[in-house]
Amino acid sequence: MAASEEARGAPAEAPDVARGLENLPVSAWPPGAGPPPFQYSPDHVAGPGADADPSQVSFPGCGCRGAPCRPGSCACLRGPAHYEDDLSLRARGAPGPLFECNALCACGEACGNRVVQRGLRFRLQVFWAGAKGWGLRTLDPVPEGQFVCEYAGEVLGRAEAQRRLRLQAAGDANYIIAVREHVRGGQVLETFVDPARVGNVGRFLNHSCEPNLLMVPVRIDSMVPKLALFAARHIWPQEELSYDYSGRFLNPMDSADPERPEPGEARKPCYCGAAACASFLPFDRSLFGPGATPTRGQGGAAAAPQLEGPRLPSR
Ligand SMILES: [Zn+2]
Ligand SMILES: [Zn+2]
Ligand SMILES: [Zn+2]
Repeated sequence: MAASEEARGAPAEAPDVARGLENLPVSAWPPGAGPPPFQYSPDHVAGPGADADPSQVSFPGCGCRGAPCRPGSCACLRGPAHYEDDLSLRARGAPGPLFECNALCACGEACGNRVVQRGLRFRLQVFWAGAKGWGLRTLDPVPEGQFVCEYAGEVLGRAEAQRRLRLQAAGDANYIIAVREHVRGGQVLETFVDPARVGNVGRFLNHSCEPNLLMVPVRIDSMVPKLALFAARHIWPQEELSYDYSGRFLNPMDSADPERPEPGEARKPCYCGAAACASFLPFDRSLFGPGATPTRGQGGAAAAPQLEGPRLPSR
């Protein structure tokens, strides 16, 4: 049988959506089908208007050699430890600013403050999710708190993010995410990421009003945060992975303040199927200039959430 398959030129392995660039291959379902091509990058890349190069090392490392990185002694851990011994996220809901050990740290790869940088540890699959378009699911069980994947793409300046949104036609999927973090002194730090042209598996995550992932900004080498998605609860094999584009799930304090569209404004329906479904995808007016018509996508398409979460220390 193998011989006849070879004779027909059948590929020996299923195609990898991640093109060999992740720790694990990312399969596609159904066999023979796959999402439209895009440039795969497991990490952020600098796009137009980006304030900082996401690949630049901008933090000093800690000097922990021989002793594990622990709060009190490790310069990277200014508050309590971010992760448990099993590498699960410790603080759920409203974590403080999260800095992992970086390229300049004296500790080794086994340091417990290196989690997101280890990359994919559960097998993921891009699959056709019907009305939602392409989606992402796990093939392995994922215990609560474990890191699943990043939402990586082009890091944009605000003007470029707005320009791209305005260029979208009605019905175009919107992948651009806007993350806002409150900095000491009342400042708001904004990060815009667009994985439409260059991005990773995170671009296939659909919105859900009852998501099983939560997004946490994690800084490693660069001031540009990685947008890390952790399991909000135990996730079973074959379950679709989702998060709340509005960021409400990360910070329930903000749930009373959803941005509401004017009557008559076009909104995209939500197909998440949750009992608490809001019927429409979240809406972020602030990205749009006056008169601009927002479009929201579902089907690997991210609306723009507000992660009104971590307060960053001034460093
Ligand atoms: Zn350390
Ligand atoms: Zn360390
Ligand atoms: Zn360190």
